[in-house]
Amino acid sequence: MSLDGVYDPDNIFAKIVRGEAPCAKVFEDHDTMAFMDVFPQGRGHVLVVHKRAHARNLLDVEPEPLQATILTVQRVARAVRFALKPDGVFIAQFNGQVAGQTVYHLHFHVIPRWAGVPLGRHAGGGMADMAELTKLAEAIALELS
Ligand code: AMP
Repeated sequence: MSLDGVYDPDNIFAKIVRGEAPCAKVFEDHDTMAFMDVFPQGRGHVLVVHKRAHARNLLDVEPEPLQATILTVQRVARAVRFALKPDGVFIAQFNGQVAGQTVYHLHFHVIPRWAGVPLGRHAGGGMADMAELTKLAEAIALELS
């Protein structure tokens, strides 16, 4: 998929937002939602999406939903920091297939990093255990203010 294209309302993240597909939810407010990545690049990998913006990527999105989404990214990153005590927090966002994008609903990756622990493969690693993801989601949610 190139940078240009039509937003597909049946993409997997839109289904998660509508409750039609499962997720380990970390956070939700009126505009945004955060849930655990099921093919995590590391322990505690969270995704943040806008619930209503029909934007495929950062280049498509209107200022207002982008603002709401990035504020949730910051809140989640802070909560990840307090819950999991990483040495760093990596924020990532991909635009277009060539750049590595695999789901065409704007989202940000919040990935805690620990010294000496390599970053896992993007969207290509093994599927995480849902019970473990739920525990991580609960631990991170506890730190959200
Ligand atoms: P990107 O490649 O930047 O579009 O990121 C998409 C991310 O969504 C990848 O990190 C995938 O591991 C993740 N992912 C794909 N399907 C699901 C799902 N059903 N629930 C949670 N994360 C998913």
